[in-house]
Amino acid sequence: MEANLLQSQSYISPRVYGHFIDGVLSDPAHDLIDRHSPVNGSLLARFSAGTSEDVDEAVTAAVRAFHREDWANLTGAARAKLLNKFADLIADHAEHLVRLEAEEASKAMKMSAHELTMVVEMTRFAASLALTAKGEAHTQLGPDALGLVTKEPCGVVGLIVPWNFPLVCLFQKLPYALAAGCTVVIKPSELTSSTTLEIARLGAKAGIPAGVINVVTGKGSVVGEALTGHPDVSMISFTGSTAVGRRIGAKCGESIKRVALELGGKGANIVFADADLDAALDGILFGFVFNQGEVCAAGARLIIEDSIADEFVSKLAERAKRVNVGNPTDEQADMSALIHEEHMNKVLAYVAEGEKEGAVLICGGQRLRGQEYDDGYFVAPTILTEVTMEMRVFQEEIFGPVLCVTRFKSQEEAILLANLTEYGLANGVWSKDIDRILLTARRLRSGTVFANTYLEAAVQLPQGGVKQSGFGRENGLDALHEYMETKQTYVKLGTRRPILAHTIG
Ligand code: NAD
Repeated sequence: MEANLLQSQSYISPRVYGHFIDGVLSDPAHDLIDRHSPVNGSLLARFSAGTSEDVDEAVTAAVRAFHREDWANLTGAARAKLLNKFADLIADHAEHLVRLEAEEASKAMKMSAHELTMVVEMTRFAASLALTAKGEAHTQLGPDALGLVTKEPCGVVGLIVPWNFPLVCLFQKLPYALAAGCTVVIKPSELTSSTTLEIARLGAKAGIPAGVINVVTGKGSVVGEALTGHPDVSMISFTGSTAVGRRIGAKCGESIKRVALELGGKGANIVFADADLDAALDGILFGFVFNQGEVCAAGARLIIEDSIADEFVSKLAERAKRVNVGNPTDEQADMSALIHEEHMNKVLAYVAEGEKEGAVLICGGQRLRGQEYDDGYFVAPTILTEVTMEMRVFQEEIFGPVLCVTRFKSQEEAILLANLTEYGLANGVWSKDIDRILLTARRLRSGTVFANTYLEAAVQLPQGGVKQSGFGRENGLDALHEYMETKQTYVKLGTRRPILAHTIG
């Protein structure tokens, strides 16, 4: 099988890929999708534009693998061993994967390296869940009855992933689905498919049987639609925009498929006057410039206590101006270019719209120019103050390095403001008063609340959204259960009369 896989080719630019189906990386299709660097316009990679026939082939392979003896029926210990081997191989290839991810998704290398560490951790954590997963025995149903509650893999799962965290978003799903005993067909973003294909190759090398992991590249409107509508796919786990999530949810409803949706966000950091303000400055800055703000859980809004607002915001702007914006391969870079030109224009249009609506631009707000920047889609860290809840920049996901600042006078008002968007993915609260933190956290309508930090992640903690940010949880034990059906087995013990005779007497 190894001979069919790309090995050294992925080091060459442009890389040209086929799909990964049934353990084999196919020859590239005639119809290719080009990925140009958002930093300098060079051609990085060419991905095959998949068709519904490709999806059908991948799903057929996944169905076959699901019913073979060498995957879903393995012991948890055997699957855990394979997942740990998979994690070892990913770690061994870290340098290469970090570089591909940084280039295609336009990530500062140091962030990309951190993300790869998380990917390895998630795989090892999922392996531990495969090893320890268990059901329940109910022994209080009478002397002659026993109830068993067991978890079973739900079947073939379609994993649809966005461009901003190609590997992290994938690994918040893939190792858990594998640990559960499912087989998968992955649809990566057409902008950032290389690392997904390379990962599939490493899975095969780790000994994960052919057909368990399949990848079909291409457009959402073709490949994503075919996967979502395929009758042999039992579940779709989607991460992406709320607009596409809504469509996928509706389509899954039509065919009664399980679905998990990780969607957009508009996170707010509430900073109370009694917070450690130096730490808060770091956290707020990181929250909106990390990954150039292309983060679903970004701290895109600052809700700040009126009495400290002027000084805090002016210090924040000073720090924002010192953020190192550069090429992903520059080890000093804190953030890089936006994903493509159209997206950059959308981000800048939001800023202009905010100003028109009355917000005050105090830093950034423009495309960066100069030798290093001229060929890329770089936008400086941007802060808008005097933002009010009616403004579009307060309500809508901008998905760029833009912070919207709103003041509050009471705790009640701060909570109200934070909850006032349709999203509910993540929020933050900064204070030295633990009562204030916990009382505020309890009332924030989001799947995650960070306290005195922002965007720190731990694999043990489940994450996901409420409201228009979606439903379903990734990471933690919940992630394993997303991919499992719960079954009860009610057992009568001993020789008994038939139920009907017994009931009638
Ligand atoms: P997107 O919704 O445009 O695309 C996501 C994926 O869905 C891509 O692979 C795309 O090709 C595919 N797709 C598009 N149309 C489809 C269709 N009709 N049927 C099936 N699949 C389809 O999102 P994006 O622009 O790639 O990513 C940015 C969005 O993702 C932002 O809104 C961001 O908030 C969200 N996101 C959410 C999380 C989270 O955990 N909640 C994490 C990262 C990104």
